[in-house]
Amino acid sequence: MKAIAIQPGIKNSAHLVEMPMPDIAEIPNGRGVLVKVLRVGVDGTDKEINNAEYGAAPIGENFLVIGHEGFGVVEEVGPNVRELKKGDYVVATVRRPGSSIYDLIGTNDMTTDDVYFERGINLRHGYLSEYYVDDAEFVVKVPRGLKDVGVLLEPMTVVQKGVTQAYEIQRRLRVWKPKRAAVMGAGTIGLLATLVFRLRGIDVVTFGRTPKPYLNSDLIEELGATYVSTDDVAIHDYSAQNGGFDIIFEATGFSPIVFDAMQALAKNGVLVLSSVTGGDRKVEVPADRINLDFVLGNKVMVGTVNANREYFEIGVKDLSAAVLEYGDWLSRLLTHRVNGLEEFEKLFDHLSNSKGVIKAYCELEDQRT
Ligand code: BGC
Ligand code: ZN
Repeated sequence: MKAIAIQPGIKNSAHLVEMPMPDIAEIPNGRGVLVKVLRVGVDGTDKEINNAEYGAAPIGENFLVIGHEGFGVVEEVGPNVRELKKGDYVVATVRRPGSSIYDLIGTNDMTTDDVYFERGINLRHGYLSEYYVDDAEFVVKVPRGLKDVGVLLEPMTVVQKGVTQAYEIQRRLRVWKPKRAAVMGAGTIGLLATLVFRLRGIDVVTFGRTPKPYLNSDLIEELGATYVSTDDVAIHDYSAQNGGFDIIFEATGFSPIVFDAMQALAKNGVLVLSSVTGGDRKVEVPADRINLDFVLGNKVMVGTVNANREYFEIGVKDLSAAVLEYGDWLSRLLTHRVNGLEEFEKLFDHLSNSKGVIKAYCELEDQRT
């Protein structure tokens, strides 16, 4: 079968490889699931991996099959798989367990191990291939009615984990009921975070760099949220005029904005950080003021990465609610389709010339039917 791989450490090394067909017998205890891949989304992480800034091949191999936002259909299951059957639509989680206590209890997204295993990212092959196998434990069923948007589930889980963690933390307050949320960033994660807050009945202001109107600001306003360009007003100025935010979800990829966001929290507020920032940027900040407001306002800041099965399951529910409430809104995030693995270079073109791109993805199905 065909797959798209990179050679870690070498820039722009993405290439087509031929690999043996995976076999459910590779998975122990009769728990294997063979998945035929239908669609794979790409994001900034894939771009960084192809830029040799990130990513590692499985031990003993010199290439890494990329792609961690997979959507596919079950082709075959092992004798001990009851929860899935041939023909089910599925998305597999990304991280696989290491050895810390968190990994052992099914929360491998909270691992304290230094080395972690992520399909398509670090030490495990990903989903940009015709087929893959995995343990049923990591394969999540997607309802038929979400067939057209199921490829958005993995990015959705990043939001779900952050929001769920924030609520979990805020149980410290006994009566916390957020009314005003801010989302920093209007890319795929920012759009999905806006959606998740709106589905929970929260007022949302989403901050992006690009002046409106453009597709992303239109999509945000269609949810009944407010779009603000940070070219016009910074988040801490906005909150000084309009009141602080009970919850802020940061997803810009630009770390200095975190310190702006820290100054825009309401009393008892929570700031969720989700940007993976590989650089070495430094900024000057009003340290005394930020610290004082955090202390006197009992505020919290939390980092979040990856997502375990639980968040994929909540993600499925919110994708379903979104289709019921907002119709084709989710499918409009799928702006750039590339036909077939052979066209992989176009995926990277879309990622680097990202004007107008929300989600670029590879469509494999059409090539085979
Ligand atoms: C993926 C996460 C992953 C993170 C860090 C993101 O692009 O969506 O699943 O944990 O990168 O590798
Ligand atoms: Zn990702």
